[in-house]
Amino acid sequence: MKSQNWTLKIQKRWKNIQKSLSIRRFLSRNFKVLAAVVVFAPFAALLLGTVYFCVNGIALAELAFLIVTWQLGCLGVTIGLHRFLTHSGFKPKGIPGLIFKFLILALANTSAEGPAISWVASHRKHHAFSDIEGDPHSPHHGWDNFWKGFWHAHVGWMFRINYPSVIQQYKRDLDKDRLVLFMDRTYFWWLLLRFVFAYLLFGPVGILLSLMALGLTHQSTFAVNSICHLFGRREFTSSKGDQSTDNFWVMLVAAGEGGHRIHHSMAYSVRHSVYWWQPDLSWYVIWTLSKLGVITDLLLPTSEQIEAKRHNPQTHIPSANTTPSATP
Ligand SMILES: [Zn+2]
Ligand SMILES: [Zn+2]
Repeated sequence: MKSQNWTLKIQKRWKNIQKSLSIRRFLSRNFKVLAAVVVFAPFAALLLGTVYFCVNGIALAELAFLIVTWQLGCLGVTIGLHRFLTHSGFKPKGIPGLIFKFLILALANTSAEGPAISWVASHRKHHAFSDIEGDPHSPHHGWDNFWKGFWHAHVGWMFRINYPSVIQQYKRDLDKDRLVLFMDRTYFWWLLLRFVFAYLLFGPVGILLSLMALGLTHQSTFAVNSICHLFGRREFTSSKGDQSTDNFWVMLVAAGEGGHRIHHSMAYSVRHSVYWWQPDLSWYVIWTLSKLGVITDLLLPTSEQIEAKRHNPQTHIPSANTTPSATP
C-alpha cells in the first residue's frame, strides 16, 4: 500500500515537471511578449543588418542565402499553410507527396508565423468575414483612421485576436491529421533549427542573415493583409464588403500571394494569377510538383469561370494577355 502511494506521488510529480517544461504552456502564458519579439526582432535586424552590410559589404553566397531563405520562408507559408492546408488546393500523392507535405510544413514552421493550426484558423475566419465585422485583420472595418487600420491589418491584429476561440471554431478536422498536429506542436523547434543551420553555414553572421530573411518573409506576407486590402486592382467580383486587391509588387515579393483579389474571388483556386505577367512563384512550384507526380488534384478555375467573375471591363488587358494559360 505504501509503495503504491509512493508510485502515485512520483507519477504526479513527474507530470508537474513535464507541465512546467511544456513549451506550449510557456508560449500561451507569455504569448504577447513572445509575439512582440518574434514580430519586431526580425524587423529590427532587417534595418540594422542593412546598415551593417552596406558598411562591411556582403559576399555573394551571403546575399544568395538571404534571398533564397526569404523566398523559401514565403513558400512554406503560401503553399504549405495557405494554398494547401487552408484551402485544400491540391493533394499530396504517395510517398513523395507525404515527404513534400512534411518538408513544406517544416518550412512553414521556420517562418515564425505561428503554429500551423492557428494560422489556418485565423485565415479561414478572414475569408468568412472579409472586411466586415468579424474579420480578424481588416484595415477597413472598425477603423476611422487610415494608419490605425493599416497597422492593425499589418501586425496589430496578432496581439488582439483570441486564438483559442478562433482555433476552436475554424480548425475543422486539422487536429485529426497526425502530421499537421506534430508540426503544430513542434513549431518552435523548427524555428530554432533554422538558426542552428544558418550558424553552421556562416557563423554569427548567419544568425543576422537568417533574422533579416525572416524580416523580409514577414513584411512580404504581412503586406497581403494590409496592402492587398488597400492598394491595387479590383478586377474580379468578391463577397459583399470585401475590399481585397491584386497588387503586382506584393505578388513579386510574397511568392504570388499579392494576387489577393483573384484569390478572394476564387478561393478554391491553387493559382493566384490569371495573366502571364503576374509573378506567382507558389503556382510555378505547385505546377512543377504536379508534373513530377508529387501532388495531384489541383483545383483551378476554367476560363469561363474566370470570365464570369470579371466585373470591370475598363481594367481588361487586351488580346492575348486576357487568356489564362494552362502553364506558368
Ligand atoms: Zn486564403
Ligand atoms: Zn484578404
